[in-house]
Amino acid sequence: MDFRCFGLFLFLFIQQVSLSRQSKEQVLLDMNAAGGELGWLTSPYEDGWEIVQTVVNGSLLYTYSVCNVDANDQDNWVRTTFIQRRPEATRVSVELQFVVRDCNSFDGASLACKETLNLFVSEADADVGTNFRKGTFRKVATIAPDEITRGRGALKVNTETRTVGPLSQKGFYLAFQDMGACVALISVRVFYKTCPTTVQSLAAFPETVTDALRLVEGSCVAHAVSPSAPSIYCTADGEWLVPQGQCQCEAGYEAVGEACEECTPGSFKSTASSEFCQICPKNTKISTAGALVCPCRDGFYRSPADPATSACSAPPGAPQDLSANTLPSEGRLQLSWSPPLVTGGRADLTYSVMCERCSDGPKTCVPCGEKVRFEPGPTALRDTSVVVADLDSHLNYTFSVVAHSGVSRFRSQRPSASITTALRYTDPPKVTSIHLDENTPTSLSLSWALSRKTPAHITHSYELMYRRKDEDRDVTMYTVLVLDKSSATISDLSPATTYVFRVQALSPEGTPGSYSTEYEFQTLTHAVPQIQNNSTVVMAAVVVGALVLLIVVAVLLLHKRILSSTGRRRGAEDPYFNSDQLKPLKTYVDPHMYEDPNIAILKFATEIHPSVVTKQKVIGAGEFGEVFRGVMKSPGRGDVAVAVKTLKAGYTEKQRQDFLSEASIMGQFSHQNIIRLEGVVTKFKHMMIVTEYMENGALDIYLRDHDGEILAFQLVGMLRGIAAGMKYLSDMNYVHRDLAARNVLVNGNLECKVSDFGLSRVLEDDPEGTYTTSGGKIPIRWTAPEAIAYRKFTSASDVWSFGIVMWEVMAFGERPYWDMSNHEVMKAINEAFRLPAPMDCPSAVYQLMLQCWLHDRSKRPRFTDIVNILDKLLQSPESLKPIADFDPRVSIRLPSTSGCDSATFRSVPEWLESIKMNQYSDSFACAGITTMEQVLAMRHEDIRNVGVRLPGHMKRIAYSILGLKDQTSSLSVFAV
Ligand code: AMP
Repeated sequence: MDFRCFGLFLFLFIQQVSLSRQSKEQVLLDMNAAGGELGWLTSPYEDGWEIVQTVVNGSLLYTYSVCNVDANDQDNWVRTTFIQRRPEATRVSVELQFVVRDCNSFDGASLACKETLNLFVSEADADVGTNFRKGTFRKVATIAPDEITRGRGALKVNTETRTVGPLSQKGFYLAFQDMGACVALISVRVFYKTCPTTVQSLAAFPETVTDALRLVEGSCVAHAVSPSAPSIYCTADGEWLVPQGQCQCEAGYEAVGEACEECTPGSFKSTASSEFCQICPKNTKISTAGALVCPCRDGFYRSPADPATSACSAPPGAPQDLSANTLPSEGRLQLSWSPPLVTGGRADLTYSVMCERCSDGPKTCVPCGEKVRFEPGPTALRDTSVVVADLDSHLNYTFSVVAHSGVSRFRSQRPSASITTALRYTDPPKVTSIHLDENTPTSLSLSWALSRKTPAHITHSYELMYRRKDEDRDVTMYTVLVLDKSSATISDLSPATTYVFRVQALSPEGTPGSYSTEYEFQTLTHAVPQIQNNSTVVMAAVVVGALVLLIVVAVLLLHKRILSSTGRRRGAEDPYFNSDQLKPLKTYVDPHMYEDPNIAILKFATEIHPSVVTKQKVIGAGEFGEVFRGVMKSPGRGDVAVAVKTLKAGYTEKQRQDFLSEASIMGQFSHQNIIRLEGVVTKFKHMMIVTEYMENGALDIYLRDHDGEILAFQLVGMLRGIAAGMKYLSDMNYVHRDLAARNVLVNGNLECKVSDFGLSRVLEDDPEGTYTTSGGKIPIRWTAPEAIAYRKFTSASDVWSFGIVMWEVMAFGERPYWDMSNHEVMKAINEAFRLPAPMDCPSAVYQLMLQCWLHDRSKRPRFTDIVNILDKLLQSPESLKPIADFDPRVSIRLPSTSGCDSATFRSVPEWLESIKMNQYSDSFACAGITTMEQVLAMRHEDIRNVGVRLPGHMKRIAYSILGLKDQTSSLSVFAV
C-alpha cells in the first residue's frame, strides 16, 4: 500500500490551500503552482521520494510521496529548487500540507516505521544546481502530524507552518527527510508576510517586511501635518499595530475619510487641527475654497486679538445721554452716560473721558491736564460713569466721552458725547476758618476762608456775629455785621478782652449757609503786645523703647512622638500553600478539533440539571452574560458554593460555541491552582458554566484592596500557586495567552487559581486587549515580544506574562508600566528596558521576574523551574529579606510624565492622589499639612502621627517624599 492511490482524495484540499493565501503574503515558492515543473532533487534517486501525478477534476496535481515502511535505515531526501530570497525577507514561513499513514496499518511494517518527517534548510549565495550535499543542510524541525490516517479510513491532511530564519544569503534550499514513514507532501508553500501599504489616522505607511517587531515611520497624507513623524509597528505576521502620532489637516483643510480636503466656500479652518471646517461667522463675506479665515464685510472688522472664529464687528458709536451731576463733596462731579446705540456686539467695550477747561470771556478751552483727577481713571472705563475731582468751582469744563472697542482703531473719527458744565452748588460755601490778622487794644482785624472758590460772577456776602466772652451766656447779645467781603476790622472793643466770633456766607439771593465754628480772639492790653507763640512743645519723648517685641512664635509644627519601631515584617511561619499537585497524565485537546463542539463539551464537562443550581447574587460581568455566586446541590458534597457564568438570551450559535469552549477546556484540567469546572447546563434554554466559587474574586482587585496588608512571604506563596497552575497547563501543552492578575481568582484561603480559558474569546473579552489590524487582540503589556511580533505564543511567552503577574502581585495590583501608552511600552521593551522592582520586593523575586523577561525565550526559566525557585524561597524565608533596589521616582511617577519635583503638585491632595493615597487627604488636612513645603519637611514619625498606620502605606508616602526631595537623577525604567 502506498500513496499513489491517494490522489483522488486530495483535490478536496487544493481549494483550502489557495484560500489561505492572503494578499499581504509574498510567495517565494508554491509547489502546487509549479505543476509538473518542480524539478526537485531526490536522494536516493530511486526508491525514495517520488513525484506522483494525479488528474483531479481535469487538473494535474503533483505530490511527493514515500512509503518505505517495511525497510530499515531509510534516509530519503527531497530538495527544492533554489529559492531566491528577497533582501528584506530575513525570516520566511514554510507551510506544509501532508498526509501520514499510521504504522500499525501496515502488516509488514518494520519496527523502524516512522510517522514524522524532517524539514531542513541550506543557505547559498548561488544556485548549486544538482550539487546536493546533505551536510550543508541544517535541521529546522521535525514535522509530526496532528492527525494520522489510520487503516483505510479517510485521509487526514495536516497543515503545519514553520518559520525558517534568520536568513542572510541570496537564497536557500529546503529539503524534506524521510526516515521510514508513509508520507505524502501535498503542498509546500514558502512565503513571507508584509504589512501592506496603509493609511491610518491621516498617515501613510509603506509596505513593510519585517521578521520581528519593527517601528515604521510614515508620513502625513497631503495637506496634513504632525509635530512628530507618525509611526506604527509592523509585526512579522504582517499586521500593523499601535499607530502613534497625530497627523492633522492643515489650515484650510479638513479630514474626509483618510484624506485632507479643502474647506468648501463659505467655511474656513484657521489652524492645523483635527477639527472640521466651520461655517463663516457673522458679518463676514463668503470665503473661497480652502479659506483659513472668512474676511469681514465692509464696515466690519476684527481686532488683532480676535480669533478667526469670531464674528466681525462694527466700531462703537457715540455714548448716549451724557449728564453731569455736582457731588456734595467739594470740587467733584459725576459724569454718567449710556452705552452707544451701536456697540458692535463686542464684550471689550470701554470708555475714555477728556476734560477741557474753559474760562469766561473769550471762550478759550485748554486741556485740564493733571489739575483734575478722575476716579477710577480717565481711560479704560468699563462702567458708564466716572467721578471728576479737584474741579474749580468758578470754571466751566467741557467733558467728552468716547466709546472704544477692539475695532475702534479702524474708524479715524471716533464719535463722542460732550457736555459743558460747571460745578453747580445750591448752598453757599462754608466758612472753614477765621484768622486773626491784627489786634490792638481796641480792634481786631479778621479774615476767613471758604470751603470752595466762588465763580467770579458770583458775589457772596457774609454775616459776622461776635460777643464778649465773659458776658452772661443766658442774656448774650451778639453784634451782627453784614459784609460783602471775607475780611473785616472790628473796632471799639475793650482792651485785654476775649471776643467770640462766628461767620456764615450768604448766597447772592441772601440764603444763609451754615455757621462756622466759634473762634476766640483777644484785644491787646495797653502795653505793646508781645505776641507769644505758644508753640506746643511736643514732647517727643515717645520712648517707644527699642522694645521690639520679638514675638518668638515658637511654632512647633509637629510634636515628635518617639514611637517604638514595632511591626517590622516578620517571616510568616504558617505554611501558606499546599504544594500537592496532580501530575497531568494527558495532553490538552483543542475543542475546535471537534467538528461538532457539542461533542467536545459532552466529552470534557459534566452536564448538570439546572434545578440543582441556585443563583444568588451577581458578582461580575463576562462578555457573554452575568456571573453569579450560587449554590449547587451535589450528591456527595451537599451544598457547594459555586460561580455560575450565564449566556445572555438571544445568543447566536457561534456565541454559544465560544461560551462553551471555555468549559470544554477547563473540563480537561484538574489541578489545585486551576479553576475547577463543576459542570455545564447546555440542554436547557439558559446555558450555564458552573465552576468552584472563589470568595476573593479577581487577584488584581483583591491586591489593590489590600495594598500593603499582605506579607511578602504570603505574596510569594500566591505566586507559587499561580506558577504551579501554569506548570500544569504547560505540561498539558496548553498555552494560556492571557495570563494576567485579572485572570487569576483568589479564594478564601488566599489560594490563587488560573482562570479565563478559551480560544479567541478570551482575548476578545479582555479589556486590555489591543486590536491588531486583522481584528485580533493582544494585551500588549502582558505579552512577550515574540508573541506580539510574530504570534509566537508558547509556554515561554506565558512565562513572560507570569513575570508581569509577579510584578503586579508584588506591587499590589499596580498597573504594569503605569499610564505609559502601549506604544511607549513596546518601544521601551524593544530597547531592553524592563519594569523596575516594586517597592519592598525581595531581590530574589525581582531577579526571577527579570529572568522571565529575557528577550531570548529559550533562556527564560520554564514553569517547572519557577515553581522550584519559588519553593526554595518559601522554604528559607531569610532569602526574602534582601530587598531589591527600589527607585520611588520610577515606581510612583511615570517616565512619560517625568519631572517629579514638589512644584509639580499644586496641592497636598493632588500629590496624595498621584501616589494613590488620597484616602489620607483629610488626615493630612486635619494635621495642618496643607503645603508641599510642609510635606517635604515630614519625617517618619510625622507620617505616622497623621494617622498612616499600614506599613505599606507608610513606605509609599515616605518613599514619595524621598523622591520629591531628590530631584537630581532623571527618571527611567530599569534597563537590563
Ligand atoms: P470572567 O468572565 O471569567 O472574566 O468573569 C468576570 C468576573 O466574574 C471576574 O472578574 C470575577 O470577578 C467574577 N468571577 C468569575 N469567576 C468567578 C469565580 N469562580 N469565583 C468568583 N468570582 C468569579
